[in-house]
Amino acid sequence: MLRYTWGLVVLFLLPSCQQSLEDIKETRLILGTVVTFTVAGVPEEVALDAITQAAAVMQGVENTFTTHGDIPNTVKIFNQAKAGEPVHLLGAVDNLLQQSISYWKQTQGAFDPTLGDLNKRWGFSGDKAPAVPLTKIEVQQSLARSGVAAIHRISPQTWVKDKVGIKLDFGAIAKGLAIDKGVEKMQQLGIQHAIINAGGDMRILGNHNSQPWRIAIRHPRREDALGWLDISADTSIVTSGDYERFFMYQGKRYHHIINPKTGFPAEQSMSVTVQAPTAMQADVLSTGLFILGFEKGLPLVESMPDVEAIWVDSHKLVHMSSGIKSKFHLLKDKKDE
Ligand code: AMP
Ligand code: MG
Repeated sequence: MLRYTWGLVVLFLLPSCQQSLEDIKETRLILGTVVTFTVAGVPEEVALDAITQAAAVMQGVENTFTTHGDIPNTVKIFNQAKAGEPVHLLGAVDNLLQQSISYWKQTQGAFDPTLGDLNKRWGFSGDKAPAVPLTKIEVQQSLARSGVAAIHRISPQTWVKDKVGIKLDFGAIAKGLAIDKGVEKMQQLGIQHAIINAGGDMRILGNHNSQPWRIAIRHPRREDALGWLDISADTSIVTSGDYERFFMYQGKRYHHIINPKTGFPAEQSMSVTVQAPTAMQADVLSTGLFILGFEKGLPLVESMPDVEAIWVDSHKLVHMSSGIKSKFHLLKDKKDE
């Protein structure tokens, strides 16, 4: 999980002509990012209580899955365990790891929850921004310490690694899960119209004073938006982009989304936005589809019910899955007009 972000706002709300004065908006720092809660249609004290409780649930998810900081958790215990040493994982971790392996299969290995050692070495989630890329040798050493084939569920909640140095990293999926758990809590408390936006990754509930919520999607290279969607349903929109955490070295961009096949930052995309029923699904798929690119990723998206995707490829060309083409309002580059 990320400890901080470098000036990232992936998605943002466009001002809508029907902006309500009664929206309750609160921001908290959770999951290493700014989380904005927007609640509409309920009295202020109801909204504030729901936000406080949702934020606490999200903090709990961070504590359970983070590989940073001093708070102990079973992910850290597994990561420090020796080869052959059985580790009893918390039920939620056992569950997310099994789901992660299923997504690993579905994304043909593009999303890989065992890349912890390599991600740490690249250093994009560390205290200090990296400035120089890893060498091929360093990458090969780290790739040898990864692989879903090297972890085994030997009994319920108990996992073992058969290779030294394998580390789990849920950084591409746990933020989505946290958003879903936060939304679940708000729904239990009677909230019907809300957005939880964690650094641009969001789940949207209901509508905004009977109008759709207008969600703008950031262009990976421009200051203005790539386009927008009008949403009035329970859905999630998550973006993975090469502009979120990166450095330039000898004219080349190195960013935080790693292709497990090469061990280097993935080169097929500049950004991928996924709309899916849950934020967890949208989160894991945005990372996986970023790595797969449009051509390999499209058949996967088209095979999944209620999942849509928008790619900006490495040439800045925009590609969309069939169900979102008529809904996404693509904005032209001002220079093209
Ligand atoms: P996201 O911003 O959701 O695309 O997730 C990126 C984060 O997930 C990185 O900061 C890493 O912690 C982790 N990550 C990077 N590459 C991969 C990958 N190929 N599979 C799984 N997790 C990854
Ligand atoms: Mg992700």
